[in-house]
Amino acid sequence: MSERLASFDPGNGDLLGEVDVTEIGQISGVVAAAHAAMTDWRSMGIAQRAQLLDRAYAKMKPHMNELARLLSREMGKDIGRAGGEMNWVAYGGPQMAHSACEALQGRDLGTGSRIEYRPLGVVAVISPWNYPLAMANNLIVPALVAGNAVVFKPSEETPLIAQAFVKILNETLPHHVLQIVHGNGAQGRELVDGDVNMIAFTGSQATGKEIMKRAAGGLKRLVMELGGNDPVIVMADANIEAAARFAVASSFENAGQMCISTERIYVDEKIADQFESRVVEIASSYKVGPWDMQGVNIGPIINAAQHGKIIQHIRDAELKGAKILLGGSKQPERYINPTVISGMTPDMQMEREETFGPVVAMSRYVKVEEAIERANDSTYGLGAVVFGNRDAQAVADQLEVGMVGVNQGPGGGGDAPWVGAKQSGVGFHGSEDGHRQFAQVRVVSNRQQSSEE
Ligand code: NAD
Repeated sequence: MSERLASFDPGNGDLLGEVDVTEIGQISGVVAAAHAAMTDWRSMGIAQRAQLLDRAYAKMKPHMNELARLLSREMGKDIGRAGGEMNWVAYGGPQMAHSACEALQGRDLGTGSRIEYRPLGVVAVISPWNYPLAMANNLIVPALVAGNAVVFKPSEETPLIAQAFVKILNETLPHHVLQIVHGNGAQGRELVDGDVNMIAFTGSQATGKEIMKRAAGGLKRLVMELGGNDPVIVMADANIEAAARFAVASSFENAGQMCISTERIYVDEKIADQFESRVVEIASSYKVGPWDMQGVNIGPIINAAQHGKIIQHIRDAELKGAKILLGGSKQPERYINPTVISGMTPDMQMEREETFGPVVAMSRYVKVEEAIERANDSTYGLGAVVFGNRDAQAVADQLEVGMVGVNQGPGGGGDAPWVGAKQSGVGFHGSEDGHRQFAQVRVVSNRQQSSEE
């Protein structure tokens, strides 16, 4: 009998269900079946693939409430946020398919040559638990539209919602074009080492580095969206109310378990007293609790290891002299109450590492150059935000990140790329350029021979 992977409600530890773990020895067969399925899939034509995805996603619509409920219970985010993620997937999936379809059309260069975007082969999509469907969907859709077959390995924390998603899509998609492999890092490693042509990964920086090493032997194509340690700089001429609201909302979103959540705030000392006290007031109004509690906006932490890491970061800050303005290192099981600290210094884990919890961590600066230097003194480079007026854009221009927002969050609207700089990513997805990373670019030059030659 195969091993089972159990999934629990992070808010109370209740068993929600189980799936079969994919045995390591079965993974090469899964990948071989994906290669075999590609023959028909790639010859189908890109517009038909996008249309088929439309039909596949349409079958999700009658099940939106039950899917949102499952996502909410399994990951821990409240039902409103889970509904938002389901909408992004079910309605955004077909839109993404159509923009990928446009981006991947061949085109003439006007010189007797043309560019084609051809499938790469089998794409391994490996995803995290914090946005268990959205993150996977962002990679699965362009990979399929480009004519690749996908083997999807969801996080071991959220197998049930991933299984439900794949089951619905597979009512419409041809056999083996989209398959799922369940397990943890061991299954992920086996897949990366297997006969796959591309790895599209969202997850931590440490796992990304291991995947890159393993993929090097076969020079496999990589798109990797990795962790962040996003800074916010609040300048003296900022709208303090707007900056404080953003600081709290972005630090606490998804219980802080978001790649672009605010992790460190540098505030001009001239406005720091006012800013800090407003942050504490706003943070105090946040409600902590399980997925179905009325008005909740901070859910449970995904597992005990992550819970322990957040407490460790708060304790480290306490020991190194930070001032705890709200919350602190004494926390209940499974949850972290809103925590606000001031006096963060560069030697603290909070400044150097991704905390991934509902903590607002602040530090004062005298000169903005100091804030810019500390913001950039990181291996991460995902997002950053500047609140201010006259020189805010000039400060934003100096930040070493893939996405920067001025007086708003990072990440553009519409079909903008989702992209990390430095060690927060390799390649990217979203936008014409992003969709094209799921295809092999091919230049075809064809000189028609005349009968006289
Ligand atoms: P993780 O790296 O621990 O795991 C991600 C996935 O990789 C899981 O499916 C896991 O089973 C698998 N895995 C683990 N080890 C592997 C290996 N050696 N080879 C192949 N696969 C392996 O990350 P996580 O804890 O699930 O997710 C949280 C992290 O993801 C945070 O760092 C967060 O910032 C990041 N993240 C980034 C983005 C982005 O767009 N940049 C979005 C969401 C999450």
